[in-house]
Amino acid sequence: VMASMAHLQKEKLRLQEELLEVQEKLAARENNELSLSLQLQGQVETLKGKLLEQAQEISRLRSELGGTDAEKHRDLLAAENERLRQEMKACEGELRELRRQQQQAPCRDCPHLQENAGLQEQLSQLQREAEETRAKLVELDLEVQQKTNRLAEVELRLKDSLAERAEEEERLSRRLRDSQETIASLKSQPQQIKYIIKTVEVESTKAKQALCETQSRNQYLQEQVGMQKQVLKEMEQQLQSSQKTEAQLRAQIMMYEAELERAHGQMLEEMQAMEEEKNRAIEEAFSRAQVEMKAVHENLAGVRTNLLTLQPALRTLTHDYNSLKRQVRDFPLLLQETLRSARAEISQAIEEVHSTNRELLRKYRRELQLRKKCHNELVRLKGNIRVFGRVRPITKEDGEGPEAANAVTFDADDDAVLHLLHKGKQVSFELDKVFPPQASQEEVFQEVQALVTSCIDGYNVCIFAYGQTGAGKTYTMEGTAANPGINQRALQLLFSEVRGKAADWDYTITVSAAEIYNEALRDLLGKEPQEKLEIKLCPDGSGQLYVPGLTEFRVQSVEDIKKVFEFGHVKRVTECTNLNEHSSRSHALLIVTVRGLDRSTGLRTTGKLNLVDLAGSERVGRSGAEGSRLREAQHINKSLSALGDVIYALRSRQGHVPFRNSKLTYLLQDSLSGDSKTLMMVQVSPAEKNTSETLCSLKFAERVRSVELGPVSRKAELGSWPSHEHLEVPKRLLGDSPGSAAPPGRGHASPSPGQLSSRSASIRRKLHTSG
Ligand code: ADP
Ligand code: MG
Repeated sequence: VMASMAHLQKEKLRLQEELLEVQEKLAARENNELSLSLQLQGQVETLKGKLLEQAQEISRLRSELGGTDAEKHRDLLAAENERLRQEMKACEGELRELRRQQQQAPCRDCPHLQENAGLQEQLSQLQREAEETRAKLVELDLEVQQKTNRLAEVELRLKDSLAERAEEEERLSRRLRDSQETIASLKSQPQQIKYIIKTVEVESTKAKQALCETQSRNQYLQEQVGMQKQVLKEMEQQLQSSQKTEAQLRAQIMMYEAELERAHGQMLEEMQAMEEEKNRAIEEAFSRAQVEMKAVHENLAGVRTNLLTLQPALRTLTHDYNSLKRQVRDFPLLLQETLRSARAEISQAIEEVHSTNRELLRKYRRELQLRKKCHNELVRLKGNIRVFGRVRPITKEDGEGPEAANAVTFDADDDAVLHLLHKGKQVSFELDKVFPPQASQEEVFQEVQALVTSCIDGYNVCIFAYGQTGAGKTYTMEGTAANPGINQRALQLLFSEVRGKAADWDYTITVSAAEIYNEALRDLLGKEPQEKLEIKLCPDGSGQLYVPGLTEFRVQSVEDIKKVFEFGHVKRVTECTNLNEHSSRSHALLIVTVRGLDRSTGLRTTGKLNLVDLAGSERVGRSGAEGSRLREAQHINKSLSALGDVIYALRSRQGHVPFRNSKLTYLLQDSLSGDSKTLMMVQVSPAEKNTSETLCSLKFAERVRSVELGPVSRKAELGSWPSHEHLEVPKRLLGDSPGSAAPPGRGHASPSPGQLSSRSASIRRKLHTSG
């Protein structure tokens, strides 16, 4: 029991604690509720205040109400009422919210519920009051309505009373008129009255009394009469004034009438004038209409005749139309027929064109061949090998004094002749053309360009610059940057020509550069410039030569060429310590290959343009040369002699041409033989000190040229090749010295009769016997 007691006690304590907790919570909630209800009360209070204000406003308005102002107030009130209603709705919403909160709250039995109920009651009461106010407002509305109605009634009555007043006035004026009439009648009455009085005086006292009365009455009446008279006078005055106004008015009326008369007269006149105008216009219109009518009649007649003529035209037209219709019907058939025949004709024509085309193409090919043949013939007649001379101007390097004097003169009439003063003797030379010192690079190139372009047609061309060092070989071939020589100009020309033919031909232009020094061939564009290249026979059996490993650059523009030149130049410079010296001891070659394909015929062409800046042709003193210098001189001498031999053999059409005697001629074999063309540009210095070298060069030039042309007339000069004889090169050139025999190689190289023209043979004979 004790244990259970203790347990119970403990339980009681726990419960008490719980109770305390709950009470605390309750107190907090009560506080909450209290503040909420306070808030609500405050709201209710403000609402009440507002209601009161409204009631006051209503009562104020009620007192002020009347007429249209009342309506305005009513509108105001209605607006206010609406606003209040909304506020009320909002309050109701709040209330509902609060109620919901309260329902959620756990305390159902708290005293605030009662308070709340009270408040609700109050609220409902307030609502009721508001309802009442609304009812009152409606009542007031009604009242306002009634009042306006009443106002309308009053207005109506006012109108009635005004009408009554007007009637009254009318009646009074009528009475006035009546009284005036009475006065007028009374005026005529007094005589009768006097007479009565006399009779009555005589008759009785009673009558006297009556008379007295009558007299007083009379008095009154007279007063009345006086008054009436006065009124009358006034009336008369009024009458007079009104008569005056009447007269005035009449005068005015007269005036107006006169005015009216005048206006009427004017109007009549105007009407008259208008009438006349109208008549005139009508007449005019009539006459015009008559004229027009006549014209129309005439037109009508014309139209009628036209119609008569048109009828047959119409008939023919319809006929035509019918025939056309028929034609149209037949047209498709006709068209088909025509088309068929046209097609046949066209195909036939095409066939014909095709055949003519074929024929033309055949003829064209034949013409091409013929042209080439003719060209070859022409070149043969002119000589495949041409020799030009170019004299450079005297330069500063020539120095001054008698050594630098000019020793070369020209013929004014013949641009192929040049005179050299040597050791006091004038020697004349005739070449194919001579360029004086003032000839420009362009002028020189103009003479060369035909040769260059023939390379596009598939010819091989060689241009050599020959002469002693310092005579202008490099200037002619390379030129300067500002004034380029044949090399650059030739390539530029080739580009422009190829571009012009691009419609039918495909061309590729390639460039190689090589140098021959001491009989060794080196590639100037290759990676290994020191490497010695070999010239070999083409393995394809065509008999053509080629240089394995020789670099070929494909060039497409002037820029490309410039690059190639620069490249080659740099190579040469880096390889040599003294370029000038070296270049004068070596042959520099620029080999341009032009390969073409005629797209229409499939024809292929290959032309080679070899531009050679030869080594200096000057002779080295017999005693002065030693070692490498001598070796160089020997090589140069050998190769130049070989070139002379080859050209000679070619021009004299010998069976054997000693191409293999030097690297240069061997390399250029293709470009020197066959229908190839060769130009030897012999460069000379005009300076007095160079005359012996100049003489040698010119002799070489003339020798080369004279082989075929006019041997008889120039026999005297046909002495020898420029004397390379002081070196060990075998003297195997013709006419070198009288009685010298032809070299052993010549024997078997003599031309077969078919190869050599009889003219060349005679020249050879003459050359053999000359000197
Ligand atoms: P080469 O190559 O034969 O040794 P160059 O071409 O080097 O001779 O010419 C030697 C000098 O003469 C150069 O300074 C060159 O500019 C000049 N020269 C040569 N020919 C002419 C010319 N036709 N007009 C002007 N100067 C020239
Ligand atoms: Mg040079």
